[in-house]
Amino acid sequence: MQKEKELLKNIFGYDEFRSLQLEIITSILNKKDALVVMPTGGGKSLCYQLPALMFSGLTIVVSPLISLMKDQVDQMTQLGVEAVLLNSSISRQEYNENINMIREGSVKLLYVAPETLLKNDILQFLQTINVDCFAIDEAHCISEWGHDFRPEYRKIANVRKRFPGAVCIALTATATARVRSDIRKNLELNETNDFVASFNRGNLFYKIVPKDNPLEQTLEFIKQYKNESGIIYCFSRDSVDRLYLNLKKHGYSVRPYHAGLSDEERQENQNLFLKDDVQIMVATIAFGMGIHKTNVRYVIHFDLPKSIEAYYQETGRAGRDGVDSTCLLLYSYSDIHKIRFFLDQKSDNEEKRAAMTQLNALTDYADTSSCRRIPLITYFGEEYTESYCGMCDNCVTPEEHSDDITVHAQMFLSCVKRTGERFGAGHIIDILRGSKSKKVNDFNHQTLSTYGIGKAYSKDVWMKLVRQFMKLKLVVSDTETPGVLKLTEKAFNVMKGLETVTGSMHEEKKRYSSDSSAREYDAALFEILREKRKELASAENVPPYVIFSDKTLFEIASFYPRDHESLLKIHGIGAHKIEKYGDILLSITDSYCSENGIEKSFEEPKVKEYLKTPRHIEISELYNSGISINELVEREKVQPRTVMDYLFRYIRDGGSIRKDLLVIICRLYYLAAD
Ligand code: ADP
Ligand code: ZN
Repeated sequence: MQKEKELLKNIFGYDEFRSLQLEIITSILNKKDALVVMPTGGGKSLCYQLPALMFSGLTIVVSPLISLMKDQVDQMTQLGVEAVLLNSSISRQEYNENINMIREGSVKLLYVAPETLLKNDILQFLQTINVDCFAIDEAHCISEWGHDFRPEYRKIANVRKRFPGAVCIALTATATARVRSDIRKNLELNETNDFVASFNRGNLFYKIVPKDNPLEQTLEFIKQYKNESGIIYCFSRDSVDRLYLNLKKHGYSVRPYHAGLSDEERQENQNLFLKDDVQIMVATIAFGMGIHKTNVRYVIHFDLPKSIEAYYQETGRAGRDGVDSTCLLLYSYSDIHKIRFFLDQKSDNEEKRAAMTQLNALTDYADTSSCRRIPLITYFGEEYTESYCGMCDNCVTPEEHSDDITVHAQMFLSCVKRTGERFGAGHIIDILRGSKSKKVNDFNHQTLSTYGIGKAYSKDVWMKLVRQFMKLKLVVSDTETPGVLKLTEKAFNVMKGLETVTGSMHEEKKRYSSDSSAREYDAALFEILREKRKELASAENVPPYVIFSDKTLFEIASFYPRDHESLLKIHGIGAHKIEKYGDILLSITDSYCSENGIEKSFEEPKVKEYLKTPRHIEISELYNSGISINELVEREKVQPRTVMDYLFRYIRDGGSIRKDLLVIICRLYYLAAD
């Protein structure tokens, strides 16, 4: 353990292992095979990179993506670790040089493409080398059930048998059980050695806003992220091109990416983005596979994602470096309505049901008024027990369910009843809004007493109401013909006036400004460091995040390290980097501090102040500092009930608040909630 921890600090510059890393490393060092399932950004690579340093022999890393191999080799080289790659992208000369280095035994990590590994001469050569570990990255490529099946991956199992002394570690971010069991079977791994990490990405802030003026909403959002990287996903090439031109017109540093561009253009745009020469990538889902840029600060879904899995994967490209990042979804009720309508026309019931299930998972996620992480994470079969994460829009500004929507429910439900429970929400809304559509006419529905009584509300408002009626189980979707609404017993009680319905009428909530930029660091110093990083990266022809992660720069700009010793306490700075860049960094902080009269007083970076404090802690601490509840309501734009919720949670987590009447109220609240 001592040695592992030492390497973690000295080579990688990290203080602690992340969840499961040490267990996995121990298993590998004991030559017990492992299957590692961790989300993107979870820290999979370290699980084989660190043992590679401790083994006397070679670690072979099989990876399907050339860009990724190059990235990792660059990263290892920056840490002072001997790593080379073998694939079709390198010159004959480089190839031979790399082979020689491996032969001499100076290489710790060899990154290799599967098709290269399968070549006979390479295999024969490697069999003359002492190989201690086989790491199979993106192991889901082995499975036909994965999203990226590669037949040559199947043959790795045989290769592995030629190296009986080598331990095998397979890694993937794909969580489905089927893919997992496929990998295990194929590589003949033992079930007892599965390591499955949580899929919760704690540093991602999830936020959803109803899409009304998407361009303006996007501009409003991205203006907070000056100089920072972001990806904006659009549904179609057209939509990408339009948004790209619009953002460019507004002076943003932006490039498009979609399958309609030439290979060269795509490559160039991607490179500019990776190198921080361009800040924003507007793209279709064609963009992102194998992009290991760690400092993406936001991902916007300008259009609806294809599925919740796609959404999770696409948003997962934000914040790989562990720094808080935001995922914004512009959610259009009318898009949902259109897709539902479209699905309704499908004749294949099996297909229809599968697509509806996908869509419902997405709408459940978007419509939830509780923590977004609950529907998102439980979708992947993981239990999620927290009720407040402090890192989603609902936890930060809980939706107030205080509107009486009984009358709206009565209008809607009686319209469902009068049309014989034979139609979907769209048609019912058309009737309520007095539409002159052909369908209304065909069924003579303009003669109904409910025709036109809901004119006062837009279609979107009605759709949102209907989602709430469904959630409250006033109506259910017919099992035979999904989409057709049926009334429940509860609905009859509401229609008779025996039960009231409460929910939310607010269609639009401007939530952008409530979060982000809560990081406390010296922004001016950060900019200077960022510039320097760019310069160093260009000189070495690697992306800037390979030199230092954003987190490293944030820490330097928060703690003003004054010498090598304090610099070593910074995240991501190990022995090699200090030797290489230590003096450069110190000369920057030195002159910055003296110019600005800053006393350099390095404190342990224990409290990562640039990371956002959870809202309940922030509010409770403000309260403890002597601010009254009324003042908090005014200043922080929160409801009194929400303040109570925060304080309640703070106490529940073991905090204490200043003593006065409120303590008693909170206790009562606590008891009631129990
Ligand atoms: P994955 O391959 O699972 O997507 P990576 O291996 O690329 O993730 O790791 C993501 C980021 O987390 C990298 O920037 C890596 O350096 C960092 N990281 C990994 N392990 C640790 C750790 N123990 N402490 C701090 N940062 C870590
Ligand atoms: Zn939450």
